[in-house]
Amino acid sequence: VVRWTPFIQNYTKPYPWIQLAGHSGGFIAGKEGTVIKKSSEKEALCLQSLMSDLLRPYVPALKGSFVENEVTHIEMQDLLHGFSSSCFVMDCKMGIRTYLEEEVCKQGKARKDLYLKMISVDPSEPTDEENNTKSCTKSRYMIWREQLSSTSSLGFRIEGVKRGMNPPDTDFKKVSSAEDIGSLFAKFINYKRTLQEKYLQRLKAIRTTLECSEFFKRHEMIGSSLLFVHDETDTASIWMIDFGKTNLLDVGVSINHNSEWVLGNREDGYLIGLDNIINIWSNMLL
Ligand code: ATP
Ligand code: MG
Ligand code: MG
Repeated sequence: VVRWTPFIQNYTKPYPWIQLAGHSGGFIAGKEGTVIKKSSEKEALCLQSLMSDLLRPYVPALKGSFVENEVTHIEMQDLLHGFSSSCFVMDCKMGIRTYLEEEVCKQGKARKDLYLKMISVDPSEPTDEENNTKSCTKSRYMIWREQLSSTSSLGFRIEGVKRGMNPPDTDFKKVSSAEDIGSLFAKFINYKRTLQEKYLQRLKAIRTTLECSEFFKRHEMIGSSLLFVHDETDTASIWMIDFGKTNLLDVGVSINHNSEWVLGNREDGYLIGLDNIINIWSNMLL
C-alpha cells in the first residue's frame, strides 16, 4: 500500500538564523539547510567519527569541511531548518566543568577584560590583588563562573534561550538552583505538557544511546551542549552540538562521565548533567 503524505516543498524559504553561544561571526550561512562553523580540524574529526557512531541521529549531520584563511570550516546540518522562524531554541552547556585540564594548569597572564566581566556580575568577587591589578587569570575566572551557575552543582547550565520572535536571552550566569531552572524550562515550553513529554522522550533516548556509544566511551566532552528546538506546531527535538573541546582519551584512560572531577581523572560529568536535566524535566508540574 502506498500512502501519500501531503507536503509543501519550499527550498527557498528564507528564515533568520539564530546563534545562542560563541562569538558573533563564528557561523556563516551554508547551502540550503546547512550552516558553516568556523572551528577546528579537531571538531571536524569528532563530527566525522560521530557519523558512524550510534549517536549519529542526535548530532548535526556533517556535510563537509574546508580550510580558509588557515581556519577549518565545518559545513553541517542546520538544526533550525524545518522549524518556523518563531521557533523556541535553548542551549544547555553540559558537564561539571567547561574548561580543559590544561586550561586550569596553565596560569596564563591576568586579563583586564575578564576582571571587567567579573565585576559586572559581582563587584565584591575580586580579591584585593585582583582589584589592585584590575585583572584576573582565565582559570580563576572560569572556576568562579562555574560555581556561580549550575555547572559545578548540577553538571549543566543554561547558556541561552530564544523564545519565538523575542531577541535571545543569554543572561543566565547566576541561575544555579534546580527550582529556578525548572521554572525556566516550564516557561520555555509555555507550560505545554505535550512538549514536556516530547523533550523527555528525546532526552531518555539520548541517555540510552550514550550508554552504548563507542564515541562517548572514548571521549572527554567539555563545553558541549544540548540544543532544544520546538515551534508552534509542537514539533520538538534535541541535538548534541559543539565538539570544539571534545578530546579523544589516551589509550588506557577511561572515564565514566558520572563521577566527581579531580584534576587528572579527566571526568567531565556529562551524565551527571544529563540525569539532572531529565529529573528537572520529569518533576515539572504543568
Ligand atoms: P561556545 O564554545 O562559546 O559554546 P562555539 O563557537 O563553539 O561556542 P557552538 O556552541 O557550536 O559555537 O554554537 C553556538 C550556537 O550556534 C549554539 O548555541 C546554537 O544556537 C547555534 N548552533 C550551533 N550549531 C548549530 C547547528 N548545527 N544548527 C543550528 N544551530 C546551531
Ligand atoms: Mg557551545
Ligand atoms: Mg564551543
